[in-house]
Amino acid sequence: MQFIDSHCHLDFTEFDSNRESLISECVAKGVEQFVVPGISLAQSRALLEFKINFAGVKIAAGLHPYFLNQHQESHIEQLFTFATANKNQLVAIGECGLDRSIENLSKQTFLFEQQIALANQLGLPLIVHHRQSHDL
Ligand SMILES: [Zn+2]
Repeated sequence: MQFIDSHCHLDFTEFDSNRESLISECVAKGVEQFVVPGISLAQSRALLEFKINFAGVKIAAGLHPYFLNQHQESHIEQLFTFATANKNQLVAIGECGLDRSIENLSKQTFLFEQQIALANQLGLPLIVHHRQSHDL
């Protein structure tokens, strides 16, 4: 049986010391593909290079609400441009969504709605993060 890890942040520095062995161990146990979400504009761009280095890694591009302070107003427009230009490299838009533990829900909502529109425009799935946001 083949497995796909549909959401793993393998590019995070926490995995710098054992990333290759971890991926090899997963592959040995049948996990053949890994979807690594985007969390910021810069990191989404960097995932293009990350993907090249690891067979089986699929990537998404997005602005994660947990990293809201890193997202500037211009980033959503740049994300549209980046994702459109690299659509064939992406399997989804995200990770995006709403997180009540983070302040500024209006900015989060704006970015979330924009990324929903982007996913619709490109015909890509959306990776959604939500924390305590069911009633919003
Ligand atoms: Zn995540």
